[in-house]
Amino acid sequence: MTLPWIDVVYGTRPEAVKCAPLVVELRRRDGIRTTVTVTGQHREMADEVNASFGIRPDADLDVLRHGATLAQTSSAIFSALSRRWSGTAPDAVVVQGDTASAALAAVAAYYAGARVIHLEAGLRSGNLLSPFPEEGNRRLIAPLASLHLAPTESAAANLRTEGVATENIVVTGNTGIDALRQQAVCSQHFDDPVVEDIVNGWHRVVVVTVHRRESWGGPLSHVVEAVAETLAHRPGVIAVLPAHPNPQVRAEVRAAVGDNDRVVVCEPLPHAQFGRLLSRAYCVVTDSGGVQEEAPALGVPVLVVRETTERDEGVAAGAARLIGTQREIVAAELAALLDDEDARERMAGARSLYGDGYAAPRAADAIERLLGVTASATLMGRGDSSELTSTSVSA
Ligand code: UDP
Repeated sequence: MTLPWIDVVYGTRPEAVKCAPLVVELRRRDGIRTTVTVTGQHREMADEVNASFGIRPDADLDVLRHGATLAQTSSAIFSALSRRWSGTAPDAVVVQGDTASAALAAVAAYYAGARVIHLEAGLRSGNLLSPFPEEGNRRLIAPLASLHLAPTESAAANLRTEGVATENIVVTGNTGIDALRQQAVCSQHFDDPVVEDIVNGWHRVVVVTVHRRESWGGPLSHVVEAVAETLAHRPGVIAVLPAHPNPQVRAEVRAAVGDNDRVVVCEPLPHAQFGRLLSRAYCVVTDSGGVQEEAPALGVPVLVVRETTERDEGVAAGAARLIGTQREIVAAELAALLDDEDARERMAGARSLYGDGYAAPRAADAIERLLGVTASATLMGRGDSSELTSTSVSA
């Protein structure tokens, strides 16, 4: 008997983080055949995540070319996937989130006749230009998808508003929280001795991550300058900024930090090490989507340096503040948090906003149902949805 074939396609670090628990879960199930195709959009960073979850990709499209534009990378992803699926198409293709890899894989899968499954479906900022191009990418995927795996009730509501049928939406929680829980965060040691010393030292630590395309050429520098300036007056606080490898981001970060030794710029950390750094943080200043989800799960307040966010749950629960990228405002908000430990404690209270760590089994159950795989295989999976108690999650 030929088993239904699911190809999980991803290319960037955040996709790898959120796909890895699902790949591991699907591969435990014997009624389906699960393969992994990596596009190579983020070479080392996604490879590191795969290795840490014991995932060896079945195909590597290796599309990354130094200096390629977004359109060139997208076109390379589309062509390579179309070639991969030209002989035999998978029964279903899983794409995650809102990257070029996800959007182009969804279109290529649709053209090849495979069903599209969208993991982390339904996030919307409501602004096509923020975040760019992510908001456009995720909106492109929605009409092509047969199954929408929404991380939260609010993401599911967005999809229903756009006319997606309720029976095609399953609220699972976010697999990024599964990934965080599966990494043994507390026992990590840092490859970088400077970061190890900071984490073991006495300073309060502010973690900073900034990389969004719409912040290039000004806003990103203003955020980093604001952090540096705020820490200049507070000797007991130090910032750690793992710099995204994008050359433009690096150049702006280096220029904004200058010779200020209160902001320690380091290489991107392996995911588990980043988890340990984050768990030690007083607060995080970030424009990342994934970090907005992980920080509340670790009890760490988030200052979101963006104009919009699709993670409203954090703001509504008081775990995150959406503060934009203006230098004076970022400096004032960070100073207010650093100078008021009670305010920090209040923000640190909300923990399970984005998932309970069992999103992947729920997603795998839904995928098996879509493909008509019998329940006997489903029950072999860890965390079968019937065993779960979270009221915010339905299957
Ligand atoms: N991350 C990491 N190492 C780092 C910084 C971040 O592994 O040095 C992880 C983080 O834990 C989260 C993901 O990268 O899971 C977020 O990726 P990114 O901010 O690049 O993308 P976004 O979530 O905004 O799409």
